[in-house]
Amino acid sequence: MSDCLFCKIVDGSIPSIKVYEDDHVLAFMDIFPLTKGHTLLIPKKHHENVFDMNSEDAGQLFSVAPKIASAIKASFNPAGLNLLNNNGAPAGQSVFHFHLHFIPRYDQTDGFKATWQTKEKQLTTDLVTKYADKIKSQLSI
Ligand code: 5GP
Ligand code: ZN
Repeated sequence: MSDCLFCKIVDGSIPSIKVYEDDHVLAFMDIFPLTKGHTLLIPKKHHENVFDMNSEDAGQLFSVAPKIASAIKASFNPAGLNLLNNNGAPAGQSVFHFHLHFIPRYDQTDGFKATWQTKEKQLTTDLVTKYADKIKSQLSI
């Protein structure tokens, strides 16, 4: 897509510091890293978000994820690593070309916090089952 930042990184018209590339995906360093080694993995083909991807696209991308994660672990020996993917502006997406964040974690003061407060009390089994049934009915489409 011509006005997409990450498509421009793929075609080289915007520079990036690459760590991995194959026919389908590209991994490069985040320009505003949350922690040391923060890396992004993207499909080369433009997909706005997860809803825009099919199993084949996702398979090509996620099959590379363990390799990238292991390379980051071997490089920096983080205490942990978060994989993060934001879909849609309300979910925190700011670049609308699918990307998977690899955020190595060092300690509680490393600058990254993913917290959520439970606004509702634990739901009844009946209600959770209804939610599950709704999702399952959509999966069988
Ligand atoms: P999002 O908020 O969409 O999940 O994440 C977008 C990420 O892209 C951010 O972490 C941001 O730092 C990174 N980013 C934005 N512009 C550029 C850029 O031009 N080059 C690189 N390498 N990363 C970018
Ligand atoms: Zn794009």
